[in-house]
Amino acid sequence: MSSTRKSRANLTLPIDGNGKRFGHIVLPWSRNDSAWGSIRIPVAIIANGSGPTVLLTGGNHGDEFEGPIILSEFARNVELDRVRGIVFCIPALNYPALKAGKRLSPIDNGNMNRAFRGRRDGTITEQIAHFVEQEFVSRADAVLDVHAGGRTMMFHPLAVSHKLPDAAQTQRAKQALLAFGAPIGLVLEELDSEGMLDSAVESRGKLFLSTELGGGGSTTPQTLQIARRGVHNFLVHVGVLDAELIAPAQPTRLMTSQADAYIVCERAGLIEYVSDLGEPVRRGDLLARIYDIDDLETDPHPVYASADGILLGRLHGGIADIGDFLSLIGGDA
Ligand SMILES: [Zn+2]
Repeated sequence: MSSTRKSRANLTLPIDGNGKRFGHIVLPWSRNDSAWGSIRIPVAIIANGSGPTVLLTGGNHGDEFEGPIILSEFARNVELDRVRGIVFCIPALNYPALKAGKRLSPIDNGNMNRAFRGRRDGTITEQIAHFVEQEFVSRADAVLDVHAGGRTMMFHPLAVSHKLPDAAQTQRAKQALLAFGAPIGLVLEELDSEGMLDSAVESRGKLFLSTELGGGGSTTPQTLQIARRGVHNFLVHVGVLDAELIAPAQPTRLMTSQADAYIVCERAGLIEYVSDLGEPVRRGDLLARIYDIDDLETDPHPVYASADGILLGRLHGGIADIGDFLSLIGGDA
């Protein structure tokens, strides 16, 4: 197979040709408890005639579960004769991280979304990124990367597109964002996109969409339903799935976030949120209080809203440390 030439990884299934098939990306991983061991990342390829090529990824971070669940469900259930083109489906992109239920790979502490475009002779995480970039991103016209908040963050369910230097590319992504049908569609200017799958795709002029669906290291029926509908709608929208769009009960509310809408923790302690996700806030409103565990006498440290809008994201968990992400506020676009 062509893949073995450029990368140490290989595919156990043909990448070209029509049909629905399942296999693995296999990377050698020699270690103390398995001398000739390997990592096997499940892949589904559903190809039928001419049409766009789409890459679907989940498990980019291993503590975000809507993507892995809904993409494997899609791969099992989709009827081949509904597909017009090619769908590559990789529900467990950072497979070692997903097996551990952790954001980062337990093998090399690798953050998959900082490892692109990868290195063929790099860490395991970089090798996965390299192979996916070479074999799948390069072939794809559009990529959907399904994220959630993970163990340490919680989001009001949203899909994300980016404000890019190319206005037409920005507009294409915004149309896909609206088609996805999440409650919130956030158009972001990414501040630190180095190494993200997002930028690996967008720098090639391709369509990219991602999500932040719930979080807390688990799923809910609501976030799974948003992911299920969104994956379906994304594929219909780009023209690779012959089906009807499924309209959400409420149309997507388009929002954006300025740099000052990210609030970072400046005191360590126990956190009490006063505002809940999805609620409107005004600049200067009290969002949260942080209690110093060791100081019973001093009033808790107040955290104020830094912008007008809706509280879209927050820390998940009761203990905040200096530098932690505390809040994301979205304003109407
Ligand atoms: Zn993520």
